[in-house]
Amino acid sequence: MVDNSVGSVLQASQSSLNETTANIDLKRVCILTWGCQMNEYDSGRMLDVLALNGYARTGTPQGADMVILNTCHIRNKASEKVFSELGRLRLMKEASGGRMILAVAGCVAQAEGKDILARAPFVDIVLGPQTYHRLPEMVARRARSGDAVIETEFLVEDKFEFLPEQSSPRGVAAFLTVQEGCDKFCSFCVVPYTRGAEQSRPAAAILVEARRLIALGAREITLLGQNVSAWHGDAPNGGSWDLSRLLRALAALPGQVRLRYTTSHPRDMDLALIEAHRDLPMLMPFLHLPVQSGSDRILAAMNRRHTMDDYRRLVDRLREARQDLALSSDFIVGHPEETDEDFEATICLLHSVRFAQAYCFKYSPRPGTPAARLRFQVSEAEKGRRLQMLQGIVREQQARFNSDSVGSTMNVLFTGPGRHSGQILGRSLYFQPVHVTGPASLIGEEKVVLIRNAHPNSLSGTIIQKGFRA
Ligand code: SAM
Ligand code: SF4
Repeated sequence: MVDNSVGSVLQASQSSLNETTANIDLKRVCILTWGCQMNEYDSGRMLDVLALNGYARTGTPQGADMVILNTCHIRNKASEKVFSELGRLRLMKEASGGRMILAVAGCVAQAEGKDILARAPFVDIVLGPQTYHRLPEMVARRARSGDAVIETEFLVEDKFEFLPEQSSPRGVAAFLTVQEGCDKFCSFCVVPYTRGAEQSRPAAAILVEARRLIALGAREITLLGQNVSAWHGDAPNGGSWDLSRLLRALAALPGQVRLRYTTSHPRDMDLALIEAHRDLPMLMPFLHLPVQSGSDRILAAMNRRHTMDDYRRLVDRLREARQDLALSSDFIVGHPEETDEDFEATICLLHSVRFAQAYCFKYSPRPGTPAARLRFQVSEAEKGRRLQMLQGIVREQQARFNSDSVGSTMNVLFTGPGRHSGQILGRSLYFQPVHVTGPASLIGEEKVVLIRNAHPNSLSGTIIQKGFRA
């Protein structure tokens, strides 16, 4: 059960609370976010909760009243960074006379719980991803009791029902979490343990949130989920929808926002979803579809439950449905038992599919996962060699994909200021960053841009006319 006082605070209307907070001194909260887009989305929702409790966002921990580390546990390096950051923050907390509240949220909090306090006893609050709506109550409890607060259980209540509506603009390109958790249990992955079982939000709640994001200025919405292609939620009028049906409903909303979704699992990409790519112009022709390995032996050891051929056939069907579809993927090198031959098969897959972009990772053993217990671990040196090789091929493919656009025109949605003065930054349909010279007043609009140059990770060009929705 949720503490009633929290429930009532969260249900209070935004406008009346804005009036209240206008007359009092705002406290400052800084959230440092690691990891995936889902963490970025969660950080935004924590700020919404805290805004109702008199906290305003600050970009720096220096002088903040509260600092929250929203953490990632996916690889060892990511979680170790949290502890080195905590070491730095400890000094700031001491300088504040102990007043600065330090909270650790996200997957490291979920996985390590009270062990965080053993390593960093100056931390005040440890909270798992399912408990963010209770944050104000945890702050109050910490102040009352003087003891550190740990909340990492998977609650019966659904946090989304208790989180307040978004109160601040989420930018031109906004995230919307539709699904959390994962039941797939890939051998190497901590997500099923840190984020819990797969859960889909109801369609009606998602549509309300999408309308709100559009009203706040979003022109592109990316649906998020650890396994977003497995989304199947309650339909607004009974029954249930799958992701393709949800995408169709979102595409019909006024505002004509661009749509994306991430991250998909190849096994869940069914015909209906492929047809949505064929039928919905608002669904961007860029899909992140992790494959992890090109070797059937390693895919089986990873418990991915698809073969390399399944993946290739799926890509063919997607490209038939939407001819200009560009793909990105995730690869892991050095999963236990991966031989040179297995690695060669991954390189073959990369050459035959050709990706616009890909993320390559060295396998990182995660405590409690089945792969960490396998006997034949690949040496760090060999993982490093394979990673470099794979990254070299990915760089070549990405450079070719980018240079192929030179001389063409593209619809670009401008999302923010560019690196240099007088520049603005946008996104192509294929997720490429595009720099142009232009006024900030164009941010939020879509224009047609003539691409003049390709750089390793971006494009640059000239606006030639209004985009079809500008
Ligand atoms: N759900 C997605 C899927 O099925 O592919 C991926 C989610 S995971 C947060 C993002 C990526 O991190 C994975 O695709 C995988 O490549 C990588 N990853 C996960 N666990 C890893 C590990 N133990 N070592 C290295 N990379 C890992
Ligand atoms: Fe992790 Fe994705 Fe596998 Fe789920 S499907 S266990 S999130 S890699």
